[in-house]
Amino acid sequence: MNYVGNVIRPPSEANAIILQVTVGCSYNKCTFCGAYKEIGFQLKAQDTIDADLEFAKQHCRNQKRVFLADGDVLILSQRRLLQLFNKIRTHLPWITRISMYGNAKAVRNKSITELKELKSMGLDRVYMGLESGCDKVLQYVKKGETASTMTAAGKKIRESGIFLSVTTLLGLGGVSLSSQHATDTAGVLNKMAPNQIAALTLIPLENTELGEDVAAGKFILPTPSGILQELHLLISHLKDVKCQFHANHASSYLPLAGRLPRDQNAFLASIEMALNGATPLVPDYRRAL
Ligand code: SF4
Repeated sequence: MNYVGNVIRPPSEANAIILQVTVGCSYNKCTFCGAYKEIGFQLKAQDTIDADLEFAKQHCRNQKRVFLADGDVLILSQRRLLQLFNKIRTHLPWITRISMYGNAKAVRNKSITELKELKSMGLDRVYMGLESGCDKVLQYVKKGETASTMTAAGKKIRESGIFLSVTTLLGLGGVSLSSQHATDTAGVLNKMAPNQIAALTLIPLENTELGEDVAAGKFILPTPSGILQELHLLISHLKDVKCQFHANHASSYLPLAGRLPRDQNAFLASIEMALNGATPLVPDYRRAL
């Protein structure tokens, strides 16, 4: 398979065929994100995609899912996406699920009818980076969206019947906005009602604007205990969601995974035990993005 640059996929797509159809992210301005800093957004040549589909046809028969990389493939036109989905169905008829990242702008550019059409062609899951439901945080990290625009995008995905997985980023409000970041993020998640929430923890990267702010002392990262308090606040404010909840990413200080609301009290109890020192935290040297 042909891969250009950093190819990033969600942990739950570990067994999927990763078909890279675009390179980079069409937005690429978030100050905490170093994923595609060195590379401009581009659609890969059709010949390259076709060769990858041919390779997958020959060698990937045991993989039932396709994840379309990179950053936000949903930004492609409906015509291109339908063409691509048709090719996947023709070359890889055993595929049961297609998924991709989709940012709020990409969702905005699609009508419900178009999203439903993609679903009927196999689009099963969209991963959206909410990061925070707090407008002050979103503005600071230059997300280019607000809590309200992302809520609308998330609800649109749900309305079209596509599985919505939303990522949030603990620590993104720094010390000063930590509580507001947690409660506002829970508020947006309550409105979106996603099928899955993944709570990652911020690890500032040197090659990012936020990393520079950390180095310059302009952004104060919460301590591990502050991050756990933030997670506790976030989970305790989730009221209306019935979904999978994962805080077990490699960046996590305290891996948690289960379902809400079923495991809500157990999650809170685990965090309280860790805050009391009864459960050891993942040391920083073992954390990663
Ligand atoms: S966080 Fe997502 S939208 Fe922002 S620059 Fe990175 S890939 Fe693009």
